[in-house]
Amino acid sequence: MTGFDAKTLRADFPALQQEVNGQPLIYLDNAATTQKPQAVIDALSNYYSRDNSNVHRGAHALSDRATVAFEDARKKVVQFLNAGSSKEVLWTRGTTESINLVASSYARSVLKEGDRILVSAMEHHSNIVPWQLAAQTCGAEVVAIPVSENGEVELDAYKALLDERVKLVAVGHVSNALGTVNPIREMIQLAHDAGAKILIDGAQGVPHFDVDVQALDCDFYAFSGHKMYGPTGTGVLYGKEALLEQMPPYHGGGEMIKTVSFDGTTFNELPFKFEAGTPNIGGAVGLAAAVDYLQGIDRAALAAHETALMQYAHERAAGFEGLKRIGCAKTIAGAFSFLLEGVHPADVGMLLDQQGIAVRTGDHCAQPIMKQFGIPGTVRASFALYNTREDVDALFAGLEKAKTFLL
Ligand code: PMP
Repeated sequence: MTGFDAKTLRADFPALQQEVNGQPLIYLDNAATTQKPQAVIDALSNYYSRDNSNVHRGAHALSDRATVAFEDARKKVVQFLNAGSSKEVLWTRGTTESINLVASSYARSVLKEGDRILVSAMEHHSNIVPWQLAAQTCGAEVVAIPVSENGEVELDAYKALLDERVKLVAVGHVSNALGTVNPIREMIQLAHDAGAKILIDGAQGVPHFDVDVQALDCDFYAFSGHKMYGPTGTGVLYGKEALLEQMPPYHGGGEMIKTVSFDGTTFNELPFKFEAGTPNIGGAVGLAAAVDYLQGIDRAALAAHETALMQYAHERAAGFEGLKRIGCAKTIAGAFSFLLEGVHPADVGMLLDQQGIAVRTGDHCAQPIMKQFGIPGTVRASFALYNTREDVDALFAGLEKAKTFLL
């Protein structure tokens, strides 16, 4: 173990200090959304208490302050991702909107009849459906990259699929349903060798790993603020400047234009071309506070802590009668999915909740991989920086208890 101290950090999260159903809350639903540290709550509260105003066009002090805070938040994300400049970091409402932006703007305008978009068979619906919608309008086809029984992308099959028809690949950094960490470096390289662009769905990536978009050389990287200790309704799309320049606007409205006339409208420069309407200013400020919070932690030590927790959960699972792990990839992060033999996942979730343990049950917005595994869903415990071995022990004690009720 490292010098990382999850118990001390846990004290920074007010929501974790409560009891649920008469028991201290054990929060293991972090892949759905993480709790927020006081620093993020304070940043939101301070922004709305002092600086609240609209950005970019005000002629007064509050608007200047809000604009500076908003654009400083963007700079923070530029540095967080090691993007090339502020032109490459777009604010969105979350991963879902980031992917829809690329599907609507890039895929619809560039892809033609007969072109292909590859996604892995274990993607979240938000990394499948936007591509299907775009494909329907431009005549392209969405093709699934096979995933093994272990829950790993089959790289040979991926290589075989990468022919000249493939113009775009969209793949998750980490699977929210199985916890698989995909070999994205290799997948990016292979996509580029085949002449395709690639988007990484980083919703479950940034909470666990340092991400350097330039080192990765991905074309697009999408993530949500709320899964990395920031506010809901915030997200980011990183895109390479040359691609974003080439792409048509996504939404029309204020902010994204340079001039408007009935003879023809011209569009604003990056990143504003893609940011129509009043943005989530407070949310951006809160997300920047979450980045600060994460960067105040030794991220290598954090990753080691989370890996140790996952390994411990899998060890405990291996010795737990009647528990079947769903997805056992070699490299895993965040999410631990399983079934108790003979018990519906929803019943397990309910009995854990009665003991103050929060997990998620169901298909985790990944119906295709559930269908492949022939299951309706799983129970998913997912970990964040404030979880401890004691939380894993509580989960297994809770499962023992649930078994006595259910079997
Ligand atoms: N992709 C993955 C891998 C996810 O886990 C999620 C959230 N569960 C999303 C996309 C969608 O994120 P959001 O709902 O924040 O837009």
